[in-house]
Amino acid sequence: MTRDRSRSPRDRELGMDRAISRRDFVQGVAIGSAGILAAAALPGCTQATPALPPGAQDLPGYYPPSLTGLRGSHAGSFEAAHALRDGAPQPAPVELDEHYDLVVVGAGISGLSAAHFYCEQHPAARVLVLDNHDDFGGHAKRNEFDLGGQLGLMNGGTMMIDSPRPYSAVADGLLRRLGIDAAALAKTIQHPEFYEGLGLGDGVFFDRETFGSDHLATGYRSKPWHEFLATAPLSAAARRDLQRVEDGGGDYLPGLTSTAKKQRLAKISYRNYLQNMLKVSPEVLAFYQTRTQGEWGVGADAVSALDAWGIDLPGFKGLRLEPGSIPGMGFTPAGYADTGGSVRLHFPDGNATIARLLVRRLVPEAVPGSSVADVIAARVDYSQLDRSAHRVRLRLNSTVLHVENLGAADSAKEAAITYLRDGRRVRVRARHCVLAGYNMMIPYLCPQLPERQKAALHALVKAPLVYTTVAIRSWQAFAKLGVWQIHAPGSYHTSLRLNPTVDIGAYRSSRSPSEPNLIWMGRTPCQPGLSEHEQNRAGRAELLATPFETFERNIRDQLGRILGPGGFDPAADITAITVNRWPHGYAPEHNSLFEAELPESELPQVIGRRRFGRITIANSDSGGGAYTDVAIEQAHRAVNELPGA
Ligand SMILES: Cc1cc2nc3c(=O)[nH]c(=O)nc-3n(C[C@H](O)[C@H](O)[C@H](O)COP(=O)(O)OP(=O)(O)OC[C@H]3O[C@@H](n4cnc5c(N)ncnc54)[C@H](O)[C@@H]3O)c2cc1C
Repeated sequence: MTRDRSRSPRDRELGMDRAISRRDFVQGVAIGSAGILAAAALPGCTQATPALPPGAQDLPGYYPPSLTGLRGSHAGSFEAAHALRDGAPQPAPVELDEHYDLVVVGAGISGLSAAHFYCEQHPAARVLVLDNHDDFGGHAKRNEFDLGGQLGLMNGGTMMIDSPRPYSAVADGLLRRLGIDAAALAKTIQHPEFYEGLGLGDGVFFDRETFGSDHLATGYRSKPWHEFLATAPLSAAARRDLQRVEDGGGDYLPGLTSTAKKQRLAKISYRNYLQNMLKVSPEVLAFYQTRTQGEWGVGADAVSALDAWGIDLPGFKGLRLEPGSIPGMGFTPAGYADTGGSVRLHFPDGNATIARLLVRRLVPEAVPGSSVADVIAARVDYSQLDRSAHRVRLRLNSTVLHVENLGAADSAKEAAITYLRDGRRVRVRARHCVLAGYNMMIPYLCPQLPERQKAALHALVKAPLVYTTVAIRSWQAFAKLGVWQIHAPGSYHTSLRLNPTVDIGAYRSSRSPSEPNLIWMGRTPCQPGLSEHEQNRAGRAELLATPFETFERNIRDQLGRILGPGGFDPAADITAITVNRWPHGYAPEHNSLFEAELPESELPQVIGRRRFGRITIANSDSGGGAYTDVAIEQAHRAVNELPGA
């Protein structure tokens, strides 16, 4: 291999010059710029054209799940939408000779479910589903790897069937029609005790930038505290404080009823609670600051203490709160506090399996097989997704830029949908349209919407997130160190773990530390100190400005520092990296620190999702909860709201 002499010695040590695949990154940029240049050159005309030339998905070899590099919202998927937001001129489209009963904008679980529900109601309907990404599924994205001849799978986003509430009849009913009996599968295909059975547990990595020196403490919550923290870089006071928090603290609100205590906790942040009621040291604040990020996309400063209690974070036992939620709690903690949550089921590629099963029902020719077990390893034939002979067509790499009722909203018989693909701006017509993309974008797509509805849609700010997958030659370092999942409160990715063990159909998880495996890593870009939505916006800007090289360097550095003492060599042991960046990640949920408690009819997602003539609005954004069951329920509602005739 040729050495890149321009790199620093540290970069070479980390393996920044090693040949791992960065194919998508390069290709994505190329697609993106070609699209924009060609779009600018389009003449402002609306002549009719019979059909589009074949797109990338129609060509042999097109298989996005195995692309590595910068995935999630990949380059080429968002530039046209951002240009629309920024007021770039929008040349008139060319009219395609395509007429549908339904056009769905967005091929996430909500959009695919909407197509499914519509086809159930109208078995002869012709449906077009459009998505700006190069793959279907939205957040339910599949990352695929060749691990020394074995198929390796990871969720690039939506991880599992897991909701704060049991799945409703609508959501569970859809899963069952797809062949998923979540409760039964949860008992048979998952092996949650596998790593523990080998003696591997949870660890916490104290990084030198935050805690003074690098140290991996193993046995979190399984070893006695003094043993777990024996050599951790923490002061004696911090050790005592940590133990006090983990043991549940005292009653810092004496004399108040349980409800009154909850009302007080709803108005202070978890950080504030730890700092001012438990009076913990700054080291302990740093230990807990990022613990809320995975659930909400922001740290302990922007999540209420009550919501932290609702998802079982430590420090509350001494308050003796009664079970159950109070009005004003966030969607997630209120749900868990009231119901204990749904069945939890992780497929090897997360909820991408649900997306693939939906596509199999919509376009059977594209997804071989007939069962849940055989869909896991099935190779989708993308060239079948958009065939004129099929009733349902799924068109990728297509960003919708304008949607309008043809005529007055209350009497229109058709909607027109304009989108951009491969630099061509085209328009199709449909009797109905369901918008299942990001709801905050709808005011740009439908400027004719009432002002109040547009303001409500703009208020829905999604939380950015990064889910990274790293392929490794072996996991002997994990075995040697005695860990399989690690919280790293001050590091670039704040959590990481070995791929959960799941066997289904022909798919088998790694069983021996000498075999290759995948690591999942989670990062939440945010800016503590701001309001939740300002943190989301700052995180999104940071995410879009971060090149793959920066992610790669941080990943290699972090894994080297955490696992190096177990013999891990980032230069030699990493075989592939996929960074799934989600600038528009979780749907926004109610936050009692920053938002007033409103009646149902005044909630922004409720005002925002109102039907507009032939156009209705789905997506999890419409339900105020970042969950798959919410995405399905909102699809069901949106389809049922469509006008007849
Ligand atoms: C990292 C991550 C992890 C998650 N983990 C879980 C989990 O474990 N369990 C769970 O239940 N939920 C999880 N969620 C929540 C997840 O958002 C929902 O479960 C669900 O997948 C959302 O589906 P959706 O169809 O509503 O939205 P999306 O998946 O966002 O799909 C919308 C699609 O529409 C496309 N689109 C938007 N605008 C346009 C346009 N103008 N033109 C064309 N296409 C457009 C988008 O690009 C996207 O592909 C997670 C979310 C993220 C980001």
